[in-house]
Amino acid sequence: MPAESYDVVVVGGGTAGAFAAATAAREGLDAVILERKSPDQAGHIACGDAIKGTSTFPDVIDLDYLREESFTNENIERAVFLNPQTDEKLDIPFGETAGSVVDRKRYGEVILEEAERVGADLHYDTVVQDVRQEDGVVTGVTAVRKGSPAKYDAEVVIDAAGALSLLQDKTDFSASTFDTNVNYSQFCSAYREIIETEEPVDYDDAIVFKPTEELGYLWYFPRTDRDINVGLGFQMNKEPMKLVDALKRDVEQRSEFDNATVKDKLGAALPTRRTYDSAVAPGYMAVGDAAAHVNPCTGGGIPGAAKAGHWAATAAAEAISEATADTEAALWEYNREVQTDFGKRFAAMDLYNIWGGTYDVDDLVGLITALPGQQLADAVAREGTASMGLGLKLKTVLKTFDTRLKNWRTLYELAQVNRIAGRLKDVYDEYPSGPEEFEDWRARRDAVMDDFYELTGADPKY
Ligand SMILES: Cc1cc2nc3c(=O)[nH]c(=O)nc-3n(C[C@H](O)[C@H](O)[C@H](O)COP(=O)(O)OP(=O)(O)OC[C@H]3O[C@@H](n4cnc5c(N)ncnc54)[C@H](O)[C@@H]3O)c2cc1C
Repeated sequence: MPAESYDVVVVGGGTAGAFAAATAAREGLDAVILERKSPDQAGHIACGDAIKGTSTFPDVIDLDYLREESFTNENIERAVFLNPQTDEKLDIPFGETAGSVVDRKRYGEVILEEAERVGADLHYDTVVQDVRQEDGVVTGVTAVRKGSPAKYDAEVVIDAAGALSLLQDKTDFSASTFDTNVNYSQFCSAYREIIETEEPVDYDDAIVFKPTEELGYLWYFPRTDRDINVGLGFQMNKEPMKLVDALKRDVEQRSEFDNATVKDKLGAALPTRRTYDSAVAPGYMAVGDAAAHVNPCTGGGIPGAAKAGHWAATAAAEAISEATADTEAALWEYNREVQTDFGKRFAAMDLYNIWGGTYDVDDLVGLITALPGQQLADAVAREGTASMGLGLKLKTVLKTFDTRLKNWRTLYELAQVNRIAGRLKDVYDEYPSGPEEFEDWRARRDAVMDDFYELTGADPKY
């Protein structure tokens, strides 16, 4: 069987894949997206559909067109946290940058349409089944295209196949830095429905969260004032939740969903862990969910996937032009861009996730809703308001509400976690510029993690 030859083969036509292929095409490379779904089904992905701002999308496709076609609610000005025990609300305004909720299917169609318009090939109904590798270098993939075997050669394979990417099971990473410390318990299982209400809801300017058992949350994200994306998830290191039943119970209690119509249902897994320490191997790069480019606290992965796709293809183009794509060093700049941008933030957020896992969710919710938001922020801030010392800040906070001793300890520990998160970010800022110093960097990062585990008593996640 003759192979089709491309500079870049992108596996998966989600956000990461579409932005990677569009960038590669704009760089003048021959690029193809291999997508297992049909043209009708492509873009149909389980998602909460919420996006924080649009400015972070790489400018390689027509972003105005994307917005006009799919951003159905650009008016999200606040996040609302509901206390399930007391029905109290914590309202957090977004400030100047409004968020959006999108029609996810249309969004997914437009990014693919745009990748094709700027020059990438698009092969639908193409299921990648294996990775081809010679002397440790990835050289292409094999697939089944419309029922027939197909073979692709590539200078670089970009793995954008999502959270459960099969490619990583098929590749031998033993001679590379590629992060293989990945386990199902670092993921979240999530489910959502699109529900059309009879009457407009009164929170069409807000994304609404409610904590659930097992350190997850329920969400209500308004695509329009009557089309609501309602979903929930749980961390897979906890007891499994019956997601469909739990969602049903919640929706039945909320009057806005009386006589409402369920228009779509879908579930999926998403990574809720730090981003991969290294997402490159000779001839291979992983982007988006396939490299855990998701905020581990909120599950937001669309902006990270778009940026990662763009950075990966930019680095691939440079390496291909220098005929060095068969080395990790030539693709490394992509790792550095990720880790010094959202990688450091997500690694820090992950600490709060792990720390939260050592508490009963009711205690945490009690603490958070007992405190005025600004004072909570002040209490745990690394740089204090008007450089107030931590002890003084805590006393100020404690004066404002009647608390229990448990809350005092929890809050103190939270402040310590916050300090370690700051140290962790500093280490990520020093992510090495090449693979030679990678192991040293990792040892420094792991030393910070050891301090964190000692403080919290949490089981190591990695
Ligand atoms: C329930 C849920 C709610 C979420 N809510 C939000 C939210 O509100 N906001 C937000 O920003 N993020 C949210 N996320 C996360 C976000 O959806 C993902 O981070 C983002 O879609 C990742 O994009 P991606 O391109 O990496 O992967 P995906 O969008 O998953 O795309 C992967 C693509 O690869 C294809 N594929 C897989 N295997 C193969 C194969 N072997 N051969 C060919 N093709 C293949 C798939 O068909 C798919 O099209 C949510 C996720 C879930 C599960």
